[in-house]
Amino acid sequence: MKVLVIGGGAREHALCRSLSQDSDVTELHCAPGNAGIAQLAAVHPVDQLDGAAVTALARRLGAELVVVGPEAPLVAGVSDAVRAAGIPVFGPSGAAAQLEGSKAFAKDVMAGAGVPTARSYVCTTEAEVAEALDAFGAPYVVKDDGLAAGKGVVVTSDRAEAAAHAASCERVVIEEYLDGPEVSLFAITDGTTVLPLVPAQDFKRALDDDQGPNTGGMGAYSPLPWAPEGLVQEVLETVLQPTVDELRRRGTPFSGLLYAGLALTSRGTRVIEFNARFGDPETQVVLARLRTPLAGVLLASAQGTLGTLEPLRWDEGAAVTVVIASEGYPAAPRTGDPIEGLAEAEADGTAFVLHAGTKAGENGEVLSAGGRVLSVTAVGADLKEAREKAYRGVAAISLKGSHHRTDIAAKAAG
Ligand code: AMP
Repeated sequence: MKVLVIGGGAREHALCRSLSQDSDVTELHCAPGNAGIAQLAAVHPVDQLDGAAVTALARRLGAELVVVGPEAPLVAGVSDAVRAAGIPVFGPSGAAAQLEGSKAFAKDVMAGAGVPTARSYVCTTEAEVAEALDAFGAPYVVKDDGLAAGKGVVVTSDRAEAAAHAASCERVVIEEYLDGPEVSLFAITDGTTVLPLVPAQDFKRALDDDQGPNTGGMGAYSPLPWAPEGLVQEVLETVLQPTVDELRRRGTPFSGLLYAGLALTSRGTRVIEFNARFGDPETQVVLARLRTPLAGVLLASAQGTLGTLEPLRWDEGAAVTVVIASEGYPAAPRTGDPIEGLAEAEADGTAFVLHAGTKAGENGEVLSAGGRVLSVTAVGADLKEAREKAYRGVAAISLKGSHHRTDIAAKAAG
């Protein structure tokens, strides 16, 4: 199978890594890719948001499966263009990707499907905002309705800050605060059948002990030894399947990766958000544990045949990933610095490095090119071992001014 992956972050590097290990994959392409992906796949420049350009590239390469990684091309309808050309594509239509692209749409779907989530108001005027903030009280949760690359959500006890964020957005969703630990559960679906993957937890704050600003994610681990037994089955029955069924009923069937961000509150499991694609950095740990070859699973989603697949097989051990971010991330990331120690980090074969924001320099060196630069992932018999291996890899890498959290999976590892 010839596969083309769209995107160029650590998520796409993780996807390419798994696909490159699948003996069914005869040719692997990625557009635009990054310096790390270029070691596994042929990389091609493309405007990811241009459905016609992506389709033309897929045709030229003879791609038999296109995998769309990031949310922006999905919301822009890139999958629709590829699908219309008769090429199987992993990733929802633009209409179904509104589940991530519009928080108000997601709330409406959840209401229709009876899926438990935070109570919320959609507001467009200052008066509506004020009423909603007062109805729920502190801590306030204010979400930009549109796609905001993880930066659209403000959770604060400062009413003025909450109102200011609301004022900076055209349309906001204001909702009840959900307490309790967060879980990310991914599922692969073809619009009818839903296959949950293993749960993971990510770390959104920049600094240890969940201090500092929110980021795209600083690390992740799987499994979650503390999670209640039966969680995956419960979420499948109360969240994932009803959501997929509701979207199909509405005439916008969702195929691809459905990501449920959940809060395990004292009053039960609630959806915090849906995403329409693999999450970064949870993908790194989830795919590190997947033993079933990936390409066939993604193709079955694209072709509507997931119901015929054997159950997915998983590594019984654990995986941990630690993100290395550039100086100044998330506020003002510094880029263009050389990264050293990449080979050393992987030397003993226990950890692997996935590139997020990197590019190749003129002399073949690898340079930082984004806020989240790399992630180092390792698997082990348990979280303690996976954690030790991942941090050994992190220690081998040097990038001027970079920072990473030192407490990824620490509590869960015991
Ligand atoms: P989202 O982009 O919706 O995932 O929000 C980003 C982060 O904000 C989440 O991972 C949570 O940590 C936090 N958050 C979002 N909604 C809520 C809520 N209703 N209650 C508490 N925290 C929330």
